[in-house]
Amino acid sequence: MNYKNKQCMVFDVHKFEKVLEKMSEMSEEQLEHVFDMEKKKLCICRTCSTYTQCIDEGEEGLFCMMGRSNCDVNINQCACSECPIHSNFQLKYDSFCRGGSELDQRNK
Ligand code: SF4
Ligand code: SF4
Repeated sequence: MNYKNKQCMVFDVHKFEKVLEKMSEMSEEQLEHVFDMEKKKLCICRTCSTYTQCIDEGEEGLFCMMGRSNCDVNINQCACSECPIHSNFQLKYDSFCRGGSELDQRNK
């Protein structure tokens, strides 16, 4: 899949700080829409061996932005380092489904 050709509001900016800045200007409705799009298009959590049926049923994902999962998660392996969002936003952390969002982990 060629991620570079994907249209995406957030993906155009390259740093996590800029993403946050852009997000802070959006309404809750806009944010929800963007999260939903990015989750379906770019988040590769569902390819990860840690991804569970509970996560799937809750249609969760994009944990780096949304924060930890509502499910009990045991980290087996984390595929985030292979995700285009991780490299393009220059994220520093991973295992977001259990450890919380990038912002939460940076603020710990
Ligand atoms: S970095 Fe991880 S949690 Fe964030 S979108 Fe990619 S796979 Fe999903
Ligand atoms: S955040 Fe990492 S560990 Fe959790 S499901 Fe996504 S890729 Fe797997």
